[in-house]
Amino acid sequence: MNIHEYQAKQLLSRNGVAVPPGGVCDTAQGAASIAEELLARGAPRLAVKAQIHAGGRGKGTYRNGFQGGVKLCRSAADVREKAKAMLGNVLVTRQTGAEGRLVSKLLVEAAPEIRKELYLAVLLDRACSRPVMMASTEGGMDIEEVAARTPEKLVREPVDATLGLMPYQARKTAAALGLKGELIAQGAKLLMGVYRTWWECDASLVEINPLCVVDAGDAKEALVAVDAKVSLDDNALFRHPDIQAMRDLAEEAPLEIEAAKHSLNYIKLDGNIACLVNGAGLAMATMDIIQHFGGRPANFLDVGGGATQDQVAAAFRIILQDANVKGILVNIFGGIMDCDVIAKGIVAAAKETGLRLPLVVRLEGNNVQSGRQTLAASGLALITGSTMADAARKVVEAVGST
Ligand code: GDP
Ligand code: MN
Repeated sequence: MNIHEYQAKQLLSRNGVAVPPGGVCDTAQGAASIAEELLARGAPRLAVKAQIHAGGRGKGTYRNGFQGGVKLCRSAADVREKAKAMLGNVLVTRQTGAEGRLVSKLLVEAAPEIRKELYLAVLLDRACSRPVMMASTEGGMDIEEVAARTPEKLVREPVDATLGLMPYQARKTAAALGLKGELIAQGAKLLMGVYRTWWECDASLVEINPLCVVDAGDAKEALVAVDAKVSLDDNALFRHPDIQAMRDLAEEAPLEIEAAKHSLNYIKLDGNIACLVNGAGLAMATMDIIQHFGGRPANFLDVGGGATQDQVAAAFRIILQDANVKGILVNIFGGIMDCDVIAKGIVAAAKETGLRLPLVVRLEGNNVQSGRQTLAASGLALITGSTMADAARKVVEAVGST
C-alpha cells in the first residue's frame, strides 16, 4: 500500500525526522487558512504540493495546462490562487501514465531556503537479503538516472536486520552525503529516525527525495525532509491499524478494490486478453503462454483453490469491466476446486452480463465431466481448449480476428 506525502511525513516526524511545518486541505479556502497560520508563525515562503500517489509532480502538467504539482508562493492570496488551479484537476507526471491523477488534496507547507538537495532511502535489498540504506549527494533528481549514469554517486549501506542501523553506519552515511560539522551528528540522528520509520512501520520503502540542507537562520544550517514517500508491506498491515486508516481508495485501481472485496487476487494489466485462473502459479504460467502465442494479458487473476460460484461470477464481472478486454481465457486445473463450480459461475456471469466476447475455456481435473456438461448445456458460444497451449492459441486467434 502507498500513502500520501503528508502521511509519510507524519510517520517520519513521529520518529524524530525533521519535516517542514504544514497542513493538508481539500479546498482553496483551507489552503489559504493554513498559509496565513504559517506566515504568522514566521514562514518566509510556502510550498503548495499536490497529494497524489505518484512522483515527478514538480515537473508535471495539469490537463488544463497549468504547470507544476509543487508551487512556491509568498502570500496567502497566491496560495489560494494556486490551490484553485490545482484542486479538482488531473495532474500528469512521468509516473502517472497518460491518464494522470485527480488532485483532491493539497499539502501547504513552510518552504525553507534550500542550500543542497540530497537523496536518502531505506529498502529491502533482495540480492543480499538485507535492509539497505541508500544515499546520494544528487538529490531532487530521478534516482534511476543517477544509478545509471553516475553509479559511484549512490552509496549503499547494508544493514544487519537483527542489529538495526548502527550509529557508526549512520555517521558514515552522513559523511558520504558531504555533511560537515554539526550537520554530521544531526544527519546521523535523522538517518537513524528514517531507518526506525522503515522498520517499525513494516515499510517496503522509505524514500526522501530531496532531503535538504536548509538555511536555519543565525548563519546555521539544518536538515529537513522536503519530500517523502513511504510504501507499506500489505502482508504486515494488520499490525498497523493507524497506517491502514491512511489508505486512500481514490488512489487505487477501482477494479482491484472490487476484487479485494471478494477475496480475489486481481491485478490489472494493459493487454486485451482477460484470464481467470485458479492458483497463482498457474495464473502466472497462463499469462506467459498468452504472451508466447503473441497475445497480451489484460490481468492477473487467481480465484484461489476453493472459490465459490459467487466468487467466480464476481471475478467474471470484474474482468469484463475492463474496456480493453477483447477475449477471455478461463484456465482451471481442479485439484481442490470442483470444475462444475467454476462452470456454473461462468454460465451465471456470462448470462447476467450478456457476454459477447470470445470465451475460451480449458477445464481439467476434479468433477470435470459435470463441468463440461454444464457448459455444453448452457447454450453459450464458447470455445473449448483441450490443453493449456491449445486454449491459449485459440484465444489469441479469436482476439486477433475481432
Ligand atoms: P516530486 O517532484 O513529486 O518528487 O516532488 P518534490 O516534493 O520532490 O518537489 C520537487 C522539487 O521541488 C524538489 O526537488 C525541490 O527542488 C522543490 N521543492 C519542493 N518543496 C520545496 C520547498 O519546500 N522549498 C523549496 N525551495 N523547494 C521545494
Ligand atoms: Mn521528490
